[in-house]
Amino acid sequence: MSTQPLIAAIEGGGTKFVCGLGRGPDEMLATHRVETTTPDETLDLVCDWLSQMKHQHGPFEAIGVGTFGPVDLDPQSETYGYITSTPKPGWQQTDVITPLKDRFKVPVGFDTDVNAAALAEFLWGAGQGMDPLIYITVGTGVGGGVWVNGQLLHGALHPEIGHLAVPPPLNSLAVNPDCQCPFHKSCVEGYVCGPAIAKRWGVRAEMLPVDHPAWEEIADVMAHALMNLTLTLSPKRIILGGGVMAQPQLIPRIRGKLISHLNGYLLIPQLQREIEQYIVPPGLGSHSGLLGSLALGRMALQ
Ligand code: ADP
Ligand code: ZN
Repeated sequence: MSTQPLIAAIEGGGTKFVCGLGRGPDEMLATHRVETTTPDETLDLVCDWLSQMKHQHGPFEAIGVGTFGPVDLDPQSETYGYITSTPKPGWQQTDVITPLKDRFKVPVGFDTDVNAAALAEFLWGAGQGMDPLIYITVGTGVGGGVWVNGQLLHGALHPEIGHLAVPPPLNSLAVNPDCQCPFHKSCVEGYVCGPAIAKRWGVRAEMLPVDHPAWEEIADVMAHALMNLTLTLSPKRIILGGGVMAQPQLIPRIRGKLISHLNGYLLIPQLQREIEQYIVPPGLGSHSGLLGSLALGRMALQ
């Protein structure tokens, strides 16, 4: 057993909350899934499981939470630790950390699910030593977290990479070619999140054949987003995770299109012969978010 502190980790998603108890990536003692229903019900079930774990394994020293957002990350704000203006029904202005603090009386680390994932990939996964590092998930939504100058990027809010504006995919053969985001006319999430793909092409993303024209379009949109991120943040590596990115043909196409969109402007090795080390899949598979939440808990102790 390592000497690392025992931490409770919570990855809050729009479909499910995944909870875990452990000391590090190689020492997870238990995990548990709670469906995302109403905030009260979901957080109660999470707390009940954590109480049960405390009973079985002894007290944990901190809790780390990485959740869908937007969230308030400003410790000076009255709504610090809240999920704020989310379009998810019933979850607007939800205080996530007070119920946890009240019940368990330990420090609570709090960040976005994608910042948590970026942190875990930096510490233990495919982004080790890479600063700046960007982690993007393409799943039910699209989101991105950023590790830069030795910390997770916050700011007036936090990165909202899923809503970067991109040109509409040209010559789309989709029946519903419009961007599906309720807020924007032409953003990444509106074209390439799982539900947007299903709506555009009339079939669930996982059912589309490998040679379907959808993948060319998705790669094109993603490459525009990565071009914008490359030009603004100058990352050393970009990690692409989430259900949609499980399609193995996507990353090679995205790499090719990124080089072609940049059109020779940035002649660094990462955008030429080292592109395979620049755009990569997660090193921690689908565990980046939960492990990152554990890391947030660890950081809350410092
Ligand atoms: P979440 O974003 O809810 O955490 P996922 O990252 O698993 O969960 O994303 C779920 C979305 O990814 C769904 O819209 C689903 O259609 C899509 N998806 C899941 N698996 C695949 C796959 N193998 N290929 C393409 N799309 C997939
Ligand atoms: Zn949008």
